[in-house]
Amino acid sequence: MDASMPIRSRFAVLCLPGRTAAHEKDVHVTVAMDDVVALCKRRGFIFPASEIYQGINGFWDYGPLGVELKNNLRDAWWNDMVRCPPDGPDGHPLSIVGLDSSIIQNPKAWVASGHVGGFNDPMVDCRETKARYRADHVHVLRHNANPAFPMFAFMEGDIENARKKAAKVKGASVEEFEDLPLSAVLSELARVIGPDASKPGSLTEPRQFNLMFKTYVGAIQDEDSVAYLRPETAQGIFLNYKNVLDTMRVKVPFGIAQIGKAFRNEVTPRNFIFRSREFEQMEMEWFCHPSEAKKWHTFWCSERGKWWQSVGLTSDNLKLRPHDKDELSHYAKDGEGTFDIEYRFPFTAPGFGELEGVSHRVDYDLRQHQEHARVKLAYFDQDSRESYLPHVIEPAAGLTRGALALICESYTEDDRPSKVFLKLHPRIAPIKAAIFPLVQKEGMPEIADKLYSELRRKYVMQCDHKQAIGKRYARMDEIGTPYCFTIDGDTLTDQTVTVRHRDTAAQERIALDKVGAFLAERLG
Ligand code: ATP
Repeated sequence: MDASMPIRSRFAVLCLPGRTAAHEKDVHVTVAMDDVVALCKRRGFIFPASEIYQGINGFWDYGPLGVELKNNLRDAWWNDMVRCPPDGPDGHPLSIVGLDSSIIQNPKAWVASGHVGGFNDPMVDCRETKARYRADHVHVLRHNANPAFPMFAFMEGDIENARKKAAKVKGASVEEFEDLPLSAVLSELARVIGPDASKPGSLTEPRQFNLMFKTYVGAIQDEDSVAYLRPETAQGIFLNYKNVLDTMRVKVPFGIAQIGKAFRNEVTPRNFIFRSREFEQMEMEWFCHPSEAKKWHTFWCSERGKWWQSVGLTSDNLKLRPHDKDELSHYAKDGEGTFDIEYRFPFTAPGFGELEGVSHRVDYDLRQHQEHARVKLAYFDQDSRESYLPHVIEPAAGLTRGALALICESYTEDDRPSKVFLKLHPRIAPIKAAIFPLVQKEGMPEIADKLYSELRRKYVMQCDHKQAIGKRYARMDEIGTPYCFTIDGDTLTDQTVTVRHRDTAAQERIALDKVGAFLAERLG
């Protein structure tokens, strides 16, 4: 299963703006995905689901620190999208309201949305190993001159393995093999050796495979009681569009936002929590006049990119990429299509993996639900006396995938005792600050406990009395705690404490009664 599988890709941690000269050495340090996975396990961020039963592929549990980190990212999104959304292009605050819709809806909704018929990813099966792969994730190495040589298929992010196989081909050098998507060589499948196979010709033509989890509602399990776990949070928003319009004082343009679980029976869940079968999404549907869709699409692409930077993805591991023509979703036939906000994960490097898609869904979903449910969903504009179906711009982000990007980005190797620290944005860090009495005597524990009980009302804090102080700092470094306060001998005489800063390991002294203000200034 994924957790135990070594993921060997390495990538360079690029210099972030704002890093100090003392940390220039971080540049070009390489991070291995298996080290990130090991830290997540060791420090209580993420565990394989059902681990004591050898796990279940594609499902993960978030431990005490993982749930804090994930909730911090979720709350940052909710705050910045719903409670305090950005100002629009004209400088006026935008209107976005929240929603929490049911995971199971009437199955007709999924027929209307196109998921029952079309939520399929083309798959290829391997006749030799019985493995099944998403066709758009398979690449091949093909010799650029000799069609007689075999082609080596590999899953995105695993090119090294294929290169090793290509290196063994007599009469060819590995540099002469080029990387192509499987779709480019479908007429030559007989020469392709599957990613895990040994002989050519084992891969089938791509076939469709429905990714929705099916269940039954009620006592009788037959075709009439079939229902689906939602594969995206977006449809719950379209189903409630009219309810929101009728009950809230919103006017187009406005948005409805939702965060929640989504389920996809992914054929090849992999790369830790990047592609799992149960995950969380943060989606917002922005309803606007069709003539303004282009403007809003540009606006949201830029805003969403800036937002990911604001929570910590500040390096050039983050980029915006327009979709190629052949990637367009079933709804994005017209309009400007989709922009992906991508992140260079350790396992995709030097390539990038999708973090968020910002799509122009046209009026596809409202039109479909209007026809299938036979309800009128047109918006009537009182000012212009015009009736129309709004177009929709959808920034759709992965919450769990975003948490992974933040962990990878912040993973910083260093020569300090812990050898690694998580340079998390303070807003995202699971523990905001720790309090340590230097020794267990002379009243230091009591002072520490008092400070802790004052501050824990406002911030997630830890108070740790045990072990050598160096070890306590190391623990906090590994979990990304931005500040540690130590009560020591001087505290008893001059009422000051040591503050240790995670990123620089620098220490300074501040007054004991100013610790709250120190945190308020930095954490809000
Ligand atoms: P992909 O091409 O990676 O399968 P997608 O284009 O199907 O993703 P969307 O339907 O646009 O993804 O979903 C929005 C976001 O939800 C994605 O950008 C991603 O962050 C997240 N997401 C989608 N599928 C998964 C998954 N299986 N595991 C974790 N996150 C996911």
